[in-house]
Amino acid sequence: MKLVIATKNRGKARELGEMLKGLEVEVLSLADFPSVALPPEDGDTFTENALIKARAVFEATGLPSLADDSGLVVDALDGRPGIYSARYAGRNATDEDNYRKLLGELEGVPLGKRAARFVCALAYKDKVREEVFEGELCGRIAARPRGENGFGYDPVFEVERLGRTAAELSPGEKNAISHRAEALRRFKTWFAEVSRG
Ligand code: IMP
Repeated sequence: MKLVIATKNRGKARELGEMLKGLEVEVLSLADFPSVALPPEDGDTFTENALIKARAVFEATGLPSLADDSGLVVDALDGRPGIYSARYAGRNATDEDNYRKLLGELEGVPLGKRAARFVCALAYKDKVREEVFEGELCGRIAARPRGENGFGYDPVFEVERLGRTAAELSPGEKNAISHRAEALRRFKTWFAEVSRG
């Protein structure tokens, strides 16, 4: 069976493809369908945005499709940056612009009140099924950026029980605990079950 990952980003397609090993599927991505465009992500939640992408790619390709949407939720900021995580500091903002803006907004907020979580919603759509799987990674926003690995808000996202930011974790360590990995584990368990019939 074929499964299309609803992303134009080859890195993300490869990463998700790696994590899907073990399932009996041939993993494709939008790189295999150059004429298929993703619709605007204009939902109000991670789940809605993931569903918008999975539905659009299923409609366009006729193949089972998997889409993710993710971001950072900070309690002290009423959940911001949330679904706007990628463009928090503006449309062309870099990762550093985004986390610097976040640190600025949290200036003066003590460490104990800087709880945050990464959230991932993973939506699957085929002819008969539509399901969403969620994953979370809880932590807090550090006072200053630390670490060189990862991307996005990783340098300022501290995994408290490890005492390190996500950017101080190796890719393997992050993949073992990440919001994306958790959502994907849930999807894999469900998919293996429904495939068995
Ligand atoms: P998207 O799921 O590709 O739309 O990503 C949304 C944005 O959320 C990214 O551009 C990052 O800013 C942020 N984000 C999502 N997952 C992570 C992560 O694992 N580490 C750091 N930032 C993340």
